[in-house]
Amino acid sequence: MKLDAPTLVTVTIFVMVVMGGLYLLSWSQSRQTRALGFLGAAQIVGAGAVALFGLRGHVPDWLSIGFANAAMLLAFGLIWAGARSFEGRRVTARQTGAGAVLWLAACLVPPFYASLGARVILASAVAGLYCALAARTLWHHRGERLPSRAPAAILLASEALLSWARIPATLVLPVPPVGTPTDPFWVAALCFVALLYTVAVAVLFMALAKERLEAEQRRAAETDPLTGIANRRALSGQARRILAAGPAALLLFDLDHFKRVNDTFGHAVGDAVLVGFCAAARQVLPGDAAFGRLGGEEFACLLPGVAVGEAARIAETVRQAVAAMRPDLVPDLAVTVSVGVVRGAGDFETLLDLADRALYQAKAQGRDRVVIAGPGLRQVA
Ligand code: GH3
Ligand code: MG
Ligand code: MG
Repeated sequence: MKLDAPTLVTVTIFVMVVMGGLYLLSWSQSRQTRALGFLGAAQIVGAGAVALFGLRGHVPDWLSIGFANAAMLLAFGLIWAGARSFEGRRVTARQTGAGAVLWLAACLVPPFYASLGARVILASAVAGLYCALAARTLWHHRGERLPSRAPAAILLASEALLSWARIPATLVLPVPPVGTPTDPFWVAALCFVALLYTVAVAVLFMALAKERLEAEQRRAAETDPLTGIANRRALSGQARRILAAGPAALLLFDLDHFKRVNDTFGHAVGDAVLVGFCAAARQVLPGDAAFGRLGGEEFACLLPGVAVGEAARIAETVRQAVAAMRPDLVPDLAVTVSVGVVRGAGDFETLLDLADRALYQAKAQGRDRVVIAGPGLRQVA
């Protein structure tokens, strides 16, 4: 197969400009993803670098060597900036442009500029360092699980290794290893690598941005905005999974005389009480409990595998924690909660129905108590 270097250079520039344009378009549509702006700029600057490399012999060397490599290193700096920005880290012009500035400064030293080996070593070392730093940034934030995170980090790490591999190759092999840097073989090989990484990095970062957006939307769709706990939809999903694995205990909470709290102290105090209730309950509920807001001042908690007696004990602990609550806004406001408890398997809605009957009894018997559902409803406290 014969690869025509000028054609490959043209294709590479074209692909990088198109990718860069797409990035900048996505960035202009969602300005909060600044990372896309940095990565778009990296592609455009990289395309400029490839164009200057491709013009070697047709333009002065200070352009096709000096500025071409500076542009390439700036493009790698921008990729690192993109990765940092994606992770919410601070990006500075100094970090991003340090490699390019170092390169230009070195080019002012005649022995360095005259040595192809020295130039290859410095450019490869800095490009590799930027790729390694970008990979490390992505890997460091792996706590946020995104499917494309590991592939993107591995890709950037491999690009770093490939870059650094040129250093021992330059030291060991006679320089240049094969032909001159203008040799069509090297131009074609470098274009191939640039193309491959450009497309892969572009696709993976686009995927990362999309995955993060989807995860945020999923979280928002499953979270109660006031209290931050699971909403009814999310709780039903969790309950289905728990009940599919075996029986569980269900606690159904309803704050007592909550309308009165709102009417007397205002909606803001009501809201604070709801938030306070969640915090108090979360503190005493077991870690594996699925806890969520069904709506209004009603909450439910599913305890996988817990026996009814133990569930009633846990409910009683929550009741006491709520009774001890002193809302910041109105410290002398006494908040109480009634709880219906049931244990069973199968359908969540059926269990809710049974717990609701127990809760009704708790209300009828005077509130601020726990009642267990069953043939003869049992009051716990
Ligand atoms: P009971 O002891 O029988 O449960 O009486 P209650 O007053 O708690 O029950 P009711 O169902 O009559 O009132 C519930 C109130 O909860 C009415 C509604 O305005 C209020 N509420 C529902 N959602 C919210 C909310 O998000 N914030 C606030 N502040 N109030 C809410
Ligand atoms: Mg209610
Ligand atoms: Mg109520």
